[in-house]
Amino acid sequence: MKNKLLYLFILFLIIGCGNDTVKEVIPVVEKEPTPPIKIERPEFNADSAYLYVKEQVDFGPRFPNNKAHGKCAIYLENKLKSFGLTTMTQIGSATTFNNQKITIKNIIGEYNPDAKKRILLFAHWDTRPFADQDTKDMTKPILGANDGASGVGILMEVARQLSINQPAIGVDIIFFDAEDYGEPAGMNNTLSETYCLGSQYWAKNMHKKDYSADFGILLDMAGNANAYFTQEAISMRYAPHIVQKVWHYGKLLGYGNHFVNKSTNFVGTDDHQYVNEIAGIPSIDIIHYERASGNFHSTWHTHNDNMDVIDKSTLSAVGEVLLYTIYQEK
Ligand SMILES: [Zn+2]
Repeated sequence: MKNKLLYLFILFLIIGCGNDTVKEVIPVVEKEPTPPIKIERPEFNADSAYLYVKEQVDFGPRFPNNKAHGKCAIYLENKLKSFGLTTMTQIGSATTFNNQKITIKNIIGEYNPDAKKRILLFAHWDTRPFADQDTKDMTKPILGANDGASGVGILMEVARQLSINQPAIGVDIIFFDAEDYGEPAGMNNTLSETYCLGSQYWAKNMHKKDYSADFGILLDMAGNANAYFTQEAISMRYAPHIVQKVWHYGKLLGYGNHFVNKSTNFVGTDDHQYVNEIAGIPSIDIIHYERASGNFHSTWHTHNDNMDVIDKSTLSAVGEVLLYTIYQEK
């Protein structure tokens, strides 16, 4: 392209002289083009992330103590192991708001476990055991394609890329259990502590003594089309510098339509709250904000939270921003 332009320019000079004989061609000093911003990052494969979301959803609803939950736990740990991460499933117990004794399974994968500098990526993998935001079949469990599987699917593809491209730092991936077994709104003033049971358990019983990470990033409901990620209040309270960094990368990579500079106060609670407050790791949440309602996605806690909600371009945007963040850290 560069050479062709030069040639055309010389040709233009020749023609432009208007004489039959051209004795001299004025030398053209070629101006160096401004180099494009070099962005080094491995390529995130949205097809692969989409498949990991679908494979979870194919198990059916996945809430503590049910059969599909047990099968999916094995699938997730094996998958992380297949990408070369050091894996374990942390088993714990909790009592839910409606007095169910549940077994918690937090699935943990460590990339480069001996590296001192580490970051923590997390998402919840369980799905809500009822559809309290729906108008029908409200007592039946949901599939949780977006609310559960989307964040996990993106992180699995990130894990696959780590094994191929080997960043300099350590990365821990935790799939928290029992995030979504909390008390439905309006029952007893909704105790937020009834949510996020897996992350609360982990924060009080870390898988490694004195575990720490420089910062943490949570993905929750991060797979729907036209996702609009605002800077939510818990993230801004505990880790504004991480929000600013990640949102800056989002814009740099051309995803300013998703990573918007707008503060919102809508999450209420999520796993990053306990990672911040109990584990003391500054952590942020990448979560979709519904502009029209000021709430979560319209399919939230309904039977419509299925694979139709999942959008590959959103998976890509989030995955690329995460990978870029990882590979910027030295
Ligand atoms: Zn939920």
